[in-house]
Amino acid sequence: MSEDRKAQRRTIEATKACRRLMEDHFRELDEAARTGSRKIAWCTSVGPAELLRGMGFLVYFPENHGAMLGATRMATELIPYANAIGYSPDICSYLTADIGSYLRKKTPLTRAYGIESVPRPDVLVFNTNQCRDVQDWFAWYARELGVPLVGVHTHRDIGPIRSFQIKDIAKQIEELVPLLEEITGERFDIDRLKEAVGLSRRTSELWRACLESAAAVPSPWTFFDATILMGPAVVARGTREAVDFYEVLLAELKERIHQGIAAVEGERHRLYWEGMPVWGKLRALSEQLAELGACVVASTYCNSWIFDQLDPERPFESMAQAYTELFIVRDEAYKEEYITRCHELFRFDGMIFHDAKTCPNNSNNRYGMPERLARKLGVPALTINGDLNDLRCYSEEQTRTNIEAFIEQLDEGA
Ligand code: SF4
Repeated sequence: MSEDRKAQRRTIEATKACRRLMEDHFRELDEAARTGSRKIAWCTSVGPAELLRGMGFLVYFPENHGAMLGATRMATELIPYANAIGYSPDICSYLTADIGSYLRKKTPLTRAYGIESVPRPDVLVFNTNQCRDVQDWFAWYARELGVPLVGVHTHRDIGPIRSFQIKDIAKQIEELVPLLEEITGERFDIDRLKEAVGLSRRTSELWRACLESAAAVPSPWTFFDATILMGPAVVARGTREAVDFYEVLLAELKERIHQGIAAVEGERHRLYWEGMPVWGKLRALSEQLAELGACVVASTYCNSWIFDQLDPERPFESMAQAYTELFIVRDEAYKEEYITRCHELFRFDGMIFHDAKTCPNNSNNRYGMPERLARKLGVPALTINGDLNDLRCYSEEQTRTNIEAFIEQLDEGA
């Protein structure tokens, strides 16, 4: 692509507000960790964040830090330090990069905000709905820092959801309350929880609307924009700030649609991205695809932060429902049906499956799904080999060549 063409890519204005929100988030946590002014809970990305906020905790998400380690390309250098203490190079590279970061006392927060280290937790709270790695990850910190570890153990590989599953998870979330009360020293207040659940739901509704704006032709934004702008949905759901941010973003996306502004000029192909992002290669992939006239309009990954089942009137049960109905928790048949519905909405003409070496949980190419979906939808699929964070598993040259050939194939079929 010529430099002229690259220069025409329009930045989404709301990105500035997103950066400010993320900075405020980390500064608030840093201040609380240094002064002890608020209790801090570490939470897995699809853990019970609303409960923690509703009980007055500030919430920190190590997976978000893991993604930052990947995006800044610090991960590949740090992973071997976790390997050296027994954590295999084959397990989650968020986990290994994050533990390596702790061991080496290096964090991207220093360069971004002048913050020396991630905030020390008062409690670690996981939900195994996405994988077992998160539990082992937090268990390491529990031993290292002498901090209580609690969590929710979710049913996995679920087809239709059964009521006993929801009841079980709701009960597990409710049972966290007494321990969390001991840590905060405050009585649980159901109204504060309802407020957090309500804000989280509103965040989700807005986030969904933002993502679904990509159904417009041409699409006003891409998966690569969304992976950055989803930061507030991950770290700030359950807060007013997240709601305010997504109202601004949605208005901008609607305005783009109104004006016919395309994220990828001359959009010729619309793609679905299945699996994790390759954090250290977002820019390269985004530029290559834009150069080829291909816009990634939808992804399972960004959709994973839509929790609009949340209902403030049924806080525990609706949290259980939102965190159990999640794509990653479901069986193959459900996942195929889900992607089929995405196809109906976004009308993509190609699918890219990312086989992330260290995340089998979010790599859905391994049991024939791309082939089955390609036949069912009449849409070609490409699998690329790589990883979310460990760039030693990723060949840039190979991927570029494969993508080029794939887009040629789409051109021929167009
Ligand atoms: S789902 Fe994958 S990337 Fe996320 S924590 Fe688990 S193993 Fe890591």
